[in-house]
Amino acid sequence: MSDQNTPVRVRFAPSPTGKLHVGGARTAIYNWAFARANHGTFILRIDDTDPTRSTEENTQVILRAMRWLGLDWDEGPAVGGDYGPYWQTQRLALYHEAAERLVAKDRAYYCFCTPERLAADRKTAEERHDPFQGYQRTCRSIDPVEARRRVDAGEPHTIRIKVPEDRGDVAIHDAVHGTVTFNARELDDFIIVRTDGTPTYNFTTVVDDTLMRITHVIRGDDHLSNTPRQVMVYEALGAPTPAFAHISMILGPDGKKLSKRHGATSVEEYRDRGYDADALVNYLALLGWAPDGETTIVPRDMLAREFSLEHVSKNPATFDFKKLDWIQQQYVQAMSDEEFVFQLLMPELVGAGLEREADPAHPKAWYLLLASILKPRTTLAPDVVEKSRFLYEGEDVTFDEKSVSRNLSRDGAHAALEAAREALLDVAADGWHAAAIDAALEPLPERLGTTKRKFYGAVRVAVCGNQVSPPLGESLELLGRGLALARLEKALPLAR
Ligand code: GLU
Repeated sequence: MSDQNTPVRVRFAPSPTGKLHVGGARTAIYNWAFARANHGTFILRIDDTDPTRSTEENTQVILRAMRWLGLDWDEGPAVGGDYGPYWQTQRLALYHEAAERLVAKDRAYYCFCTPERLAADRKTAEERHDPFQGYQRTCRSIDPVEARRRVDAGEPHTIRIKVPEDRGDVAIHDAVHGTVTFNARELDDFIIVRTDGTPTYNFTTVVDDTLMRITHVIRGDDHLSNTPRQVMVYEALGAPTPAFAHISMILGPDGKKLSKRHGATSVEEYRDRGYDADALVNYLALLGWAPDGETTIVPRDMLAREFSLEHVSKNPATFDFKKLDWIQQQYVQAMSDEEFVFQLLMPELVGAGLEREADPAHPKAWYLLLASILKPRTTLAPDVVEKSRFLYEGEDVTFDEKSVSRNLSRDGAHAALEAAREALLDVAADGWHAAAIDAALEPLPERLGTTKRKFYGAVRVAVCGNQVSPPLGESLELLGRGLALARLEKALPLAR
């Protein structure tokens, strides 16, 4: 167990076999926050020893996702550090050296059993109803000199860890699960180096965690069952065992492991849908951790200050898409109009081809006014595109058919548009502001003997193309006097 005074060093060690899953992201967040809260070091290590499934492209996708989430690492790819390299494929010599050292110390041994032999042993054990069905330790008793000779002669072999016969129970003191005990006899003399020379996960992880001086291993509880095997490797290496914290799985709303069936599972998908990175980090952090019973908005700096393993729950967490959206909304509403314009609105409008980044179509005040009406109506960043499109369409706005049939193809619509046009003609160009526009339109429904809903519905569809656009006065102000009047006129033939 690591010493209280040792500086905290934690790692996130993804295997680049796919994108960064939200479960992996939460593990990364907890490691990052734990390092920050304890003034420790957060290391990113790429566990890429599975050559068939690991790709450089996936590694880059993971690094991009980590950067987007704002989980800055102190050691690892791109930043380096004193304990590199930080890709396992670049550390193979270290694993081989460690394995040979264990053989020399008699804590590991060469095994020459063929797959056929192993299969036959398993079958016999099964038939005898032997309680121990693992490796029968056949090669454990081969004289080391003889074993060395066979290895040098090129005989295919693996290297197995020697689990001490008298080891007794292996107790893991887990910060989340409490003490979990495993029987060492059931651990088997597992393989640490395969016949093809590749090291296994339980070995590489421990070699690296030891060499990288990891003090706390925080990872998914799907690895809890690997932990006693890893403890055997620490003990064989003569290295201190770190503290462990195995965090629970994330479930979908139906109680099954979160998967594609439930919705988006990769960090990238959330980014592409327009979630805010801070909101996603906040939401994921709360999946299994909470500063107290009620706080739901946990900004990044608070997380980095207050995160502690004591408050991590061992119960599986259920992914709640509605809660994520609620938190997302809180983050959008907390932006100033200025932040909204520059961080959210402009990038979206540029992305949709409505604006050009280097050459905005309007003065800054125009965007701030747009921000003030869009922000309360925005959850995800791309929401702003459809709500702004009518402002970029010239005289010929795109009409939503349903909105037209409900608001223009009904009696009184024509009269409403004519009255609105006349009233707005009286609003001078230099007084073309939402308040003046609203004031000019305000008396009209009563004068026409119609309802506000019908009147404004017709005007709104005529100028904006649909009935769900943002507030009318501001919309007309943003559109400008010329376009507003032109659209009212153009819509007249559609109105009854
Ligand atoms: N590469 C392993 C994984 O992605 C790391 C597990 C660990 O943290 O030890 O599951």
